[in-house]
Formats: sequence, C-alpha cells, structure tokens
Amino acid sequence: MRIDILTVLPDLLESPFNFSIVKRAREKGLVEINIINLHDFASDKYRSVDDYAFGGGAGMVMMIEPVFKAVEKLKREREYDEIIYTSPDGEKLSQKIANALSLKNNIMILCGHYKGIDQRIRDHLITREISIGDYVLSGGEIPAAVITDAIVRLIPGAMSDEQSALSDSFQDDLIAPPVYTRPAEFRGWKVPDILLSGHAAEIEKWRHEQSIIRTRELRPDLSDNE
Ligand code: SAH
Repeated sequence: MRIDILTVLPDLLESPFNFSIVKRAREKGLVEINIINLHDFASDKYRSVDDYAFGGGAGMVMMIEPVFKAVEKLKREREYDEIIYTSPDGEKLSQKIANALSLKNNIMILCGHYKGIDQRIRDHLITREISIGDYVLSGGEIPAAVITDAIVRLIPGAMSDEQSALSDSFQDDLIAPPVYTRPAEFRGWKVPDILLSGHAAEIEKWRHEQSIIRTRELRPDLSDNE
C-alpha cells in the first residue's frame, strides 16, 4: 500500500509515522508513506501556495495550480484508488471507512490549510472528503495523520497479533472490554477473578459480555441498527 500526503507543512508530519505500529509497518514494507511539499510545485520565487480569497474576507485560500501540478505528476506515476481531502464538512471518519481504505493500494491525501482550498480542486480532483470530527483544526495534517494511522494498523501483518485489531472497539459495532495488567491487586482494587482463572473459553465469554454491557451503557447508538 502507498499513501501520499500533500501538505504545505511537511515538517508537521515528521513524527507521527515514525513510532509504534505505523513505523513497524513501514519497516516491514507493508506501507510506503510519502510526504509531498506543495511549496515544491509553486510557480513563483516565493514558493507561494496561497492567495487572497476572491470576494474578500479574512483568510488565505490554497491555490489550484500548485495542487494540480503535484497531483497530476503523481497521477502520471500510478493510479490512485482515492484522492482524499481532509475537510471538517466531509463524511466523518469511522472504523468502517478505515477498514475499507485499508484494502486500497494507492491513496492520496490532500491537507488543507488557511481558509481552505479553492473549491475547483474539490469539484474536479478530489474523490472523497473526510472529517475527523465536528470541530475546526488549523490544518489537515493532523487529520491526515489520524486517517493514516487508522488505516495502517489494519493492514494484515501491521500488528504483531492480528487478532488484536479485530478485538478493538467499533469492529462488530462493539466497544472493547476492559483490560488489566499486573499487579492483580492495587490499593485493594482487584482485577476480576475470571481473568486470573486461566479458563480461556470462559474469559472469552466474559469479555464478549463486557463488550455488550459497555456498548449498551456508553454507546447505545452503535447497536441501534442491529
Ligand atoms: N474554513 C474552513 C476550515 C478551514 S481549517 C471551514 O470552515 O470549513 C483549515 C484546514 O484544516 C481545512 O482546509 C481542512 O483541510 C483541515 N481541517 C480542519 N478541521 C478539520 C476536521 N475536523 N477534519 C478534517 N480536516 C480538517
């Protein structure tokens, strides 16, 4: 799998992909993540990628030319399954979307900045718009990192124990059961006995029950469509 991220702030994406599961997935060759600096596609000597909004108003707008130049160069090299724009008004990221995207081969993610991007980019280039929640961030870099992390950990082999992704929250519309580690007792607070019993089947049953109880309590909306 290959994920190309277009940004005006490449430095902001230095660290999120260099740790933990995403780092290991890259090292194993399961995913290639490329950060592309949109300033490299500017046509003036100041490497500008933004300009004033037509019609006035506060805030700059990302220009269409550098984005088109960058995207067209990348598209000449390979076919993309999705060209995603991170946008607060896009479809809200969910485990379902992450699962679907993890099956793709080539994904491009365009990070917006300033007041946003020229609407014509959205109209003519973007195949999908994704939001990470109903709040506004300064740029699309953190959303791109969130989307990428959610996808990459689902690629088979990315996690040391593949089962681990399947037992996470939202798979099967359930919340994960509680987890505990040593010590078995801390300040009088005990770990549930069943987890110390060694009965694998019983433990599995208990975990599933806990998932159902927690889902009912915390996220009844998840089982609404059962
Ligand atoms: N004026 C825009 C917000 C611009 S914020 C509006 O009101 O909709 C600057 C950039 O940050 C956006 O172009 C987008 O790429 C990114 N961004 C901000 N919040 C986001 C969110 N919740 N999800 C995904 N991307 C977001």
